[in-house]
Amino acid sequence: MPMTLDPRKKPASVKVHVSTGQGVDITWSDGHSSHFDFSYLRTECPCAMCNDERMKKNNAPAFAAAGPVAGLGPSLPMFKPKVTARKANAMGNYAIQIDFSDGHSTGIYSFDLLRTLCPCDECAREFRGPA
Ligand SMILES: [Zn+2]
Ligand SMILES: [Zn+2]
Repeated sequence: MPMTLDPRKKPASVKVHVSTGQGVDITWSDGHSSHFDFSYLRTECPCAMCNDERMKKNNAPAFAAAGPVAGLGPSLPMFKPKVTARKANAMGNYAIQIDFSDGHSTGIYSFDLLRTLCPCDECAREFRGPA
């Protein structure tokens, strides 16, 4: 059963570098290739929980952004360990599920979604529109 006929969203090759922590490399049927860091994928996690968080973040600073940020004090360097993946599973041939090093594992990344998340400029214009 073909899930999609768009060659831009059909992977020709998928490499998930779990042991080296390098992220995910996908070459698409249209010849384009994408590289995703695990930390980037973690930020873009499509699960309901993370979607909620992003919505809250996007809504909150709408008018607060104009003034100075009060109550935060001097900014301390944050040593947040970079999120990597502990495991990745293929979900049939339409998606990959990633078990992140921070314990989060509910995100399922369909190839359709991954192509629209491709961090390159070209895909940003094509799939996410002008900023
Ligand atoms: Zn999530
Ligand atoms: Zn791209």
